[in-house]
Amino acid sequence: MEIKFCGAAGYVTGSRHLLTTESGFKLLLDCGMYQGVGVNTYDMNASFLFDPKEIDAVVISHAHIDHTGALPRLVKLGFEGPIYCTPPTLDLCQIMLNDSAFIQKNDLKYLNERKKKRGEDLVEPLYDETDVEKVLSLMVAVDYHQRCIVNEELSFEYSDSAHIIGSAAVHVYYEEKKGDAKILTFTGDIGRPNDQILKDPETFVQSDYIISESTYGDRLHEENIGRDEHLFEIVMDTCVHKKGKLIIPAFSIDRTQELIYSFDRMVSEGLLPHIPVYVDSPLSVKATNITRKFRKYYNQRLVDYLKTDKENDAFDFPSLKYIGKVDESKALNASDQPCIIISASGMAEAGRVKHHIRNNIENKNNTILLVGYCTPDSLGGRLKSGEKEVKIFGEMYQVKAGIRIMDSYSAHGDFNEMIQYLSCQNTGKVRELFLVHGEPEVQKEFKKKLENVGFSKVYIPRLGETVTI
Ligand SMILES: [Zn+2]
Repeated sequence: MEIKFCGAAGYVTGSRHLLTTESGFKLLLDCGMYQGVGVNTYDMNASFLFDPKEIDAVVISHAHIDHTGALPRLVKLGFEGPIYCTPPTLDLCQIMLNDSAFIQKNDLKYLNERKKKRGEDLVEPLYDETDVEKVLSLMVAVDYHQRCIVNEELSFEYSDSAHIIGSAAVHVYYEEKKGDAKILTFTGDIGRPNDQILKDPETFVQSDYIISESTYGDRLHEENIGRDEHLFEIVMDTCVHKKGKLIIPAFSIDRTQELIYSFDRMVSEGLLPHIPVYVDSPLSVKATNITRKFRKYYNQRLVDYLKTDKENDAFDFPSLKYIGKVDESKALNASDQPCIIISASGMAEAGRVKHHIRNNIENKNNTILLVGYCTPDSLGGRLKSGEKEVKIFGEMYQVKAGIRIMDSYSAHGDFNEMIQYLSCQNTGKVRELFLVHGEPEVQKEFKKKLENVGFSKVYIPRLGETVTI
């Protein structure tokens, strides 16, 4: 079998790995979109390093756009086979891909206006809602630990990788020659133990080959012990002592639910004074509903908590309000009352949170709390780096609000957690381990660390490179 690394090789986005068996069957692992890779982003997303018509099937690890966002493009260019994913991933893809189609339409308007001024050719959207519909019609839900037979040579199983709800590692079983059965594991994105909502990452079957992510291969996360206390202190300081607003930009999936659940617990314990908490992002509201639906994927701590919770719901308490309509979102700006607003996007580059930041950044009583990774150029990144003045919607604003950072939230394991995850393997039996989904310098560091724990052959493939396994 051959693996062609068609994305996320030397990058952290655009996850796409193509398996081709000796008989020519083509299975694509993930079909992600590149995000924030500069001027080439559109072109890198418009084409593939293979012919979409030749792909027989796709297996998706989880719903994040950098793992699924190119699926509608694949379908638009002629792919017609099955797309396998877990049940929560299927539901999440419906909201995420439609959102992605919508964002592109808007982004393209600006891109094309610029191109028009420069006299360049205009570009078309990568896909639209019709293509998303087609993707959804091709999706087949496969739960963890259910063997899915893809064809006579290939089958796979999912295991829980604890990154977001429904996220999975993919274990591909293949037997190209009789009696020569092998297993290839693709880790997808590796989550962390002790997540507030999810179970711990699962151990997995001994594999001959592993394709592993490496995002935080050189980094250790801040301890998440005392996280609720830290969050509580920020709420009290902003909303009670200063009577200000607390604005929290947060990713729609996972981070938003973790925050709501933290506040739910504070309310249950009688800690949180009656401060309104608003979740103001249509995508976050939908993602929370999906998380609410899939209770069987919750960890035991959360299951036990639900038994004691008044509403029997980790995402509902009396002072919490979900906001869908734009008018209601705008009304939040008119109010001077102390409140907490959780809103997307996580990097504060787009979405309603950008409006909330603009309207509240020049008041010293307010706080903007950054809980996620932000690229340095994003609004969140600029606030994180301590800039005193920032441009929002083309105008400069003084940063008078308090800027607070909590780095303990992360859906990706750090290097210790990833090594811990891989420690279920007998390293002597792993013939080769390929590193993807990481920056080149980080990957070099992680390779050394993996070699130190006994993985003798760790390889960092280049984009477009093919290896035989
Ligand atoms: Zn992810």
